[in-house]
Amino acid sequence: MASIQSLDSHTARRIHSGQVITNIESIAKELVENALDAKATSIEIKLMDDGLEAIEVIDNGSGISQENRAMVGKKHCTSKIACFEDLEKLDTFGFRGEAVNAICDMAKALSLTTKTLADPIAKMYHFDSQGIITREASSAAISSSGTAVCVDRPFYNLAVRRQLAIKERALTVKRIQDLVTRYGLSHPQVRFLCRQILHGGSAGVKVPSLIKPTTATTLDTIRYVFGNRLASMLVDKVIVENFDQQLDSDDIPLTLHGILPAQDSDPTCVLSFTDRAFLYINQRPINYAKSDLREITTMVKRRYKQALRMEEDESRKAPFFYLDIQTSSLEFDVNVEPDKSVVFIHHKERLLAMVSRLLDEVYGSFFTLPASQPTS
Ligand code: ADP
Ligand code: MG
Repeated sequence: MASIQSLDSHTARRIHSGQVITNIESIAKELVENALDAKATSIEIKLMDDGLEAIEVIDNGSGISQENRAMVGKKHCTSKIACFEDLEKLDTFGFRGEAVNAICDMAKALSLTTKTLADPIAKMYHFDSQGIITREASSAAISSSGTAVCVDRPFYNLAVRRQLAIKERALTVKRIQDLVTRYGLSHPQVRFLCRQILHGGSAGVKVPSLIKPTTATTLDTIRYVFGNRLASMLVDKVIVENFDQQLDSDDIPLTLHGILPAQDSDPTCVLSFTDRAFLYINQRPINYAKSDLREITTMVKRRYKQALRMEEDESRKAPFFYLDIQTSSLEFDVNVEPDKSVVFIHHKERLLAMVSRLLDEVYGSFFTLPASQPTS
């Protein structure tokens, strides 16, 4: 057996970067999350040659202050938490300080242009593969405040990922549109624009595709993305845990915002084979299957079908629904997988009981019939 030795820092870093940034969509996700953390109300994603040539995310958020700029690309450098305990009051998507560094490691080049309201002019910074600034120059690209991150040849330094990205190029745009839908639904006030630039950089053919404008509510975003017919069949409900009935004074608040098919909705419109279960915790999209929250989708499906008096196995299709669980970050742990889409829930039973209450409010109370007694 070979002797155990410590990996050199370059190898260790690249192995880790490959977990954070798996494909072009994951770059878009990390940059969109950074834009949302910076309180942007407008986010534009530009894909040059389906992202293979470059991907750029431009936001109108806070921008990055002068003193923070040298740290942006360094591993484990973040402005979002200062110590482990801060995870208990986390209100941002990011906290590990690794995405920008990992992207620098994989890509041919990364440049970042930023301006805060206090800066007279924007500045553009070029980063090397270690995440260190190598050049800077003034830029007129941002007039108010915000940040634009441009990733040139995303998988230049990882041949297998590059090949995979080429193979999956037809899927990339669709995946990024799905990503915009997922984040757009829980951030109705944010305008998202996705632009494809085909063949030959900025001089090439531009295919603009507005994904969603600013809307007042999530239901309005659903209307915009999925159409009026589906939106008109949904019920929008918020329920808050009733503290009067709570035993524990230091109990943690729990609010559910659900948008579910109404009892009299047309199942041909509401049910589909495509997964349209949108589940969130504090506006963060959650992979319900990997988070052991599949029960929620099963509960919604069962109650909706019962309300319509459909047999449970009448259709394998599942209903559209949106559910945002709003609670303290003490109640869940997102530090499970590199992409943070998996959560561990602390009091899962309490959550499921509350989902059941929400379903009661939409579909009426549901009583299971007692099992019939054998006749003697
Ligand atoms: P994290 O989001 O976990 O902090 P990142 O590597 O994604 O780590 O980003 C590092 C830091 O760079 C962030 O903490 C933030 O301070 C800054 N940053 C990155 N992108 C933006 C952006 N679009 N707007 C403002 N600040 C940003
Ligand atoms: Mg981040």
